[in-house]
Amino acid sequence: MRIHHLNCGTCCPWGGRLFDGESRGVVHGHIVCHCLLVESDAGLILVDTGYGHRRLEQRRLSKFFTVLNQPQLIESETAVAQVRSLGFDPRDVRHIVITHLDFDHAGGIEDFPNATVHLTAREKEVADEGRGGAFVGTRRYRPRQWDEVNSWALYPLGRGEPWMGFDCVRDLEGLPPEILLVPLVGHTWGHSGVAIDTGNGWLFYAGDAYFHHGEIGRRNRRCPPGMRFYQDMMEVDRDARMANQLRLRRLSLEHANDIEIFCAHDRQEFEQFANAGRGDRPLSRWRERRAPEQTFASAQPT
Ligand SMILES: [Zn+2]
Repeated sequence: MRIHHLNCGTCCPWGGRLFDGESRGVVHGHIVCHCLLVESDAGLILVDTGYGHRRLEQRRLSKFFTVLNQPQLIESETAVAQVRSLGFDPRDVRHIVITHLDFDHAGGIEDFPNATVHLTAREKEVADEGRGGAFVGTRRYRPRQWDEVNSWALYPLGRGEPWMGFDCVRDLEGLPPEILLVPLVGHTWGHSGVAIDTGNGWLFYAGDAYFHHGEIGRRNRRCPPGMRFYQDMMEVDRDARMANQLRLRRLSLEHANDIEIFCAHDRQEFEQFANAGRGDRPLSRWRERRAPEQTFASAQPT
């Protein structure tokens, strides 16, 4: 398998450094929509799809999130444009694995008409009903982003097999056995991560289970106030979200050398992968950051 890391949606949310902890100034931050394109024997597989075409998203997205997140809606960043620029035909994307159906993950789905969309059954159910929090529920889920999908593969929660202390779905219909769906509930009711056995260690895409690289790879959670606020606003189950984040933090310390964990929106994480070249694994840099003395012994939830 060959894995490409794609940014399918730059956003410049209000708050600058207060939001992302890195930008200069406090006006606009800079986050990404980190997606994956996997070349496999089962065809091309996309993991999350970011935002769709500007002309569509301007009609589909809620005003609230458009103003808050300031998505740039750059045509060349759409998943379909990047699939084409890598030399592939979008019709050869046979599978899309979606962590959850939020507007910033599902925008590109309908550009791939031959793809089966894989996710938890719970996520599809709550998204169809707009049940994702009292205020944000109907604003985060935008059914027009996925109402023309022909083929869904939905997986029940709670019937998983163990993987690294998590339950997971191992047999995704038509997908290679190296790709697992790992429920990480809390951000939404059916949110999950995606683990990929590269043959040289695991990649674990945690979606929106955390937002900032300071939330894993260290004993104590570190997260800028803006991202902290945003995550709190978007959560549906705080206890589950924080418990899963703690498990991810634990995993990142206990398996620093054989699992690389990354989330959807952290720019620094994305750049580490993107700069390492297509399919390369920037593990050495991660090892540096995650010093071996950082054992889980004192890792605490915050
Ligand atoms: Zn998101």
